[in-house]
Parts: sequence; structure tokens; C-alpha cells
Amino acid sequence: MIRPQVESITLQDHGLWERLRRRRVPLGFDLELTARCNLDCRHCFVNLPAADAAAAARELPAAAVLDLARQAVDLGAVWCTITGGEPLLRPDFAEIYLGLKRLGLLVSVYTNATLVRGEHAALFRRYPPRDIEVTVYGATEETYERITRRPGSFDRFRRGLGLLLNQGIKVRLKAMALRSNLDGMAEIARFCREHTKDFYRFDPLLHLRSDRDPARNAEILSERLSPAEIARAERSDPERFGAMERNCERLIEPRRGDFSLASCLECGERENCEDLEHLSRLFICGAGAASFFIAHNASFRLCASLCAPGMTYDLREGTLKEAWERFAPEIRSRRTGSEALLGACRSCPIVNLCFNCPATADLECDDPEALVPYFCAVAHARLTSLKHECTPGIGRGTDAASE
Ligand code: SF4
Ligand code: SF4
Repeated sequence: MIRPQVESITLQDHGLWERLRRRRVPLGFDLELTARCNLDCRHCFVNLPAADAAAAARELPAAAVLDLARQAVDLGAVWCTITGGEPLLRPDFAEIYLGLKRLGLLVSVYTNATLVRGEHAALFRRYPPRDIEVTVYGATEETYERITRRPGSFDRFRRGLGLLLNQGIKVRLKAMALRSNLDGMAEIARFCREHTKDFYRFDPLLHLRSDRDPARNAEILSERLSPAEIARAERSDPERFGAMERNCERLIEPRRGDFSLASCLECGERENCEDLEHLSRLFICGAGAASFFIAHNASFRLCASLCAPGMTYDLREGTLKEAWERFAPEIRSRRTGSEALLGACRSCPIVNLCFNCPATADLECDDPEALVPYFCAVAHARLTSLKHECTPGIGRGTDAASE
């Protein structure tokens, strides 16, 4: 038998990540330059009007943004994602973008593309980003503007996207699946696959507002798809569903589901950690483990969605080092006594199909330790959709839970 000269492993399985995780190196961070946006998407969990002067006054000036980025690089950061609101609303966007590049960061940009002008495309061509991600709300003017509520925005989006593509810039296209564009999802997928450089993905999870605005939250809830609709939308996208099928064993775990993938965060045990003290960790996700989020108003968060009271750190009052080295581990080490989490979620075989987490639970129920029935139902609908395709035995242990 011929033995391979060189063994190959996937990048995700490289031991480097585990070593970096143990040393708590913040490999990447998201930088929200503004919460303002020129569009008014029905499902948006952050946007404030573009002309909101109070929101603009809360934004960090370019020098302060770059100072925080330098602190992040000193801590070990390599990746940075510029996000918003719509970051191109900032007149100093180019100054910030180039400043981040000069710090040696690999920079990604999230934008709706409607404000892209020739000078942006020239900037990105000369100093290429790692990638640019653009969300496509519809493939037709009617669908797109039903969501963005801005007449003329579809044309501006097409023009901006065209400018980027014509300069050969790497653009990734993605979508949100919501009630107002559900009938156009197949068309959106086709459009994105025709125009994107690598992969297309859509996200059916609509977050509630970080500012907890009740009227906007009601609107978001009315845009949410039912669990069955989410499962159907995933099934009708062969690429997405194929990936789920291929990862079936990872997504549906007949034994304990929570610590079986990433090893137990406390002792490193893979799959078999049953130490109750370890299982009572509130955070079993990656929030604040190797990345963080800086909001437009200098608020440090463990992830973009985690803005629960007492779980954010004001960077105007302290340093990023303090936030990363003291504050984040303190939050991450919190325990839960919630019967729902300890009794159901911590031994749930389909936790990896579920959107429930401390951040989403807080946004839904004002309680980071809550179990959100909607997310539970979505996970079970996804299970029902998947389990017929999985190898015998994988989904079997979960039948009772799926009723
Ligand atoms: S483009 Fe993005 S930030 Fe702007 S309103 Fe739509 S979802 Fe929100
Ligand atoms: S909310 Fe439901 S599906 Fe999600 S982890 Fe908990 S028990 Fe499992």
C-alpha cells in the first residue's frame, strides 16, 4: 500500500486554533462604525435613520476607532470586519479603512452597496479587502424595496454592486429569509449565485432590536418565518440542505449534544464531560472566546447580539485590554441555575440546530438564561426535515423531543 508522504488535515482541525484558544488570543473583531442606515429594512435589528444627529454624535471619531484597532492588534487580532448600520454613510470611511489596513489587519466590509461610488470601488481595487459582503433583499425592484422601504434603492444597489464587480473586487452575496421576500427566495439565490465569487448563504434568524424598540420588534416578529417555513426554505435550497446532510452527525448528536463538538470549555474533555459544575456554564458558544464586537458608541460586547444589561463594557471608561482580559472572561465564566437550560438544553441532542443562546434569549425574554420556545420549535422542525436523510440511529434518539 502506498502511504501518503504528507498528511493533510482541514484548516479547522489544525492544532493552532486550540493553542490560540487556550491562550485567549482575540483573533478577530467586528467594528460597528454606525448604527445609522440609508435604508429602513423591515427586519433590521440595529438601524437608526441616516439623519439621526444624536446617533451620529455617539459615533467614535476615526482617531478613536483606529486607536481601539491598534489596541486590538496589540492583543493579537488579525481580522477585522467593518459593519453597521451602513458603514459607507461615514464620510471618514476611507480614512478608517486605510488606517485598519495600515495596522496590518485583514479587513472585511459589510455593506448594502447602495452608497458605493466610483471612489469606493477604486479604493477597494487599490487596497483590496479580505472580502465585501452584501445582503440582497430581493432580486427584483418590487421585492427589494418592499423590504428596504426606500424607492430607488434597488437601482442604487445594482449600480453599487456593478461598480464593485467591474473592479474585480471579491464580493460575497447573502440574503435574509423573511415573510416579505419568501416568494422571491429562489430568484434571490439564483441572482446571488450568478454574481458572487464563492458561496451564497441565507439566514432565517431575525434578531430582535438591540434598542428594544417595541414597535420595531413587533414588525420583526411579523416578518419571521414559522419553524416549518424555515425548514422548508432550507430544504428547497439544495446546496444548503446538502451541507446540512453532510454535517448530520455533527448537527444531530444522539448522546450529549452540548460539549461534544468543541471540547468542554473547562477541562478540554471531548464528548464525555459530565461534570455538573462544568455543564452549568451559561456560555457554551464562542462569544468572547476568540473575538469580540465594538459598537458605534464604544460599547464592548462579547458578540454582536449580546447587549444584556451588565454584559457590556464601556471602552470610553477603560481599555480594550481590560475589557478583553478581565471583563470578557468574567462574563464567560457565569453559571446558570436555570432549570430549562440545565434540564433540557445542556443535554439536548440538537443543540447545534438551535439558535437559543444567552444573547438571543435576552433579546427575546429579557433573560439570558431563558429557553425561547420559538427557537426550540425551529430546531425541531429542522430535525424533522433532516432526520430522514441521516444515517440510521443518528436522529433516532431525538424522536421524543421532536413531537
Ligand atoms: S441595509 Fe442593513 S443596516 Fe440598513 S436597514 Fe437594511 S438591514 Fe439594516
Ligand atoms: S431550546 Fe430546545 S432545541 Fe434548543 S437547545 Fe434547548 S432544548 Fe434543544
